[in-house]
Amino acid sequence: MDFKDHIRVIEDFPKSGISFKDITTLLKNGEVYRAAVDALVEQIRPWKPELILGPEARGFLLGAPVAYALGIGFVPVRKPGKLPGEAVSETYELEYGSDTLEVHADALHAGQRVVIVDDLLATGGTMLATARLVEKTGARVMGMSFLIELAELEGREKLGTYPIFSLVQY
Ligand code: 5GP
Repeated sequence: MDFKDHIRVIEDFPKSGISFKDITTLLKNGEVYRAAVDALVEQIRPWKPELILGPEARGFLLGAPVAYALGIGFVPVRKPGKLPGEAVSETYELEYGSDTLEVHADALHAGQRVVIVDDLLATGGTMLATARLVEKTGARVMGMSFLIELAELEGREKLGTYPIFSLVQY
């Protein structure tokens, strides 16, 4: 299946010069959505994860069904102030300003095998911050998996030696 046929590209969204990859067109097609999740599952399985993490919000849409298919837990990575329990947080720099991500402190434990799933790899900032969160808890990042990779932004380089997989590349 060519997943690119189901990803809509919208120019100048959310601002001028950005070529946005819209995955809602893929998600609304049940056959294609399932095929994408199945492909991620088969690629992630050999990493033998004990837990899947997904960053808010599109990471939930792929990470949760992957966790369900593997029969393992899913942990949401959230924007600040959303989690009710004690949280671990990580702040990272954006082009303008900074952003923070959080997970519940008791969601992970030392030595646990974690795979992080998100819809898209751009600069790698979101994924690097998520990996640091995992490592603050003592858990281990076994791999990072994406539906889409924007290769020219070189997120892969920023992420260094973590194993990285993407289903489609632009
Ligand atoms: P990064 O932190 O790698 O620069 O950006 C990746 C994050 O931004 C992901 O969580 C992703 O959801 C979001 N993102 C950035 N650009 C796009 C895009 O073109 N399409 C979609 N669907 N998400 C994007």
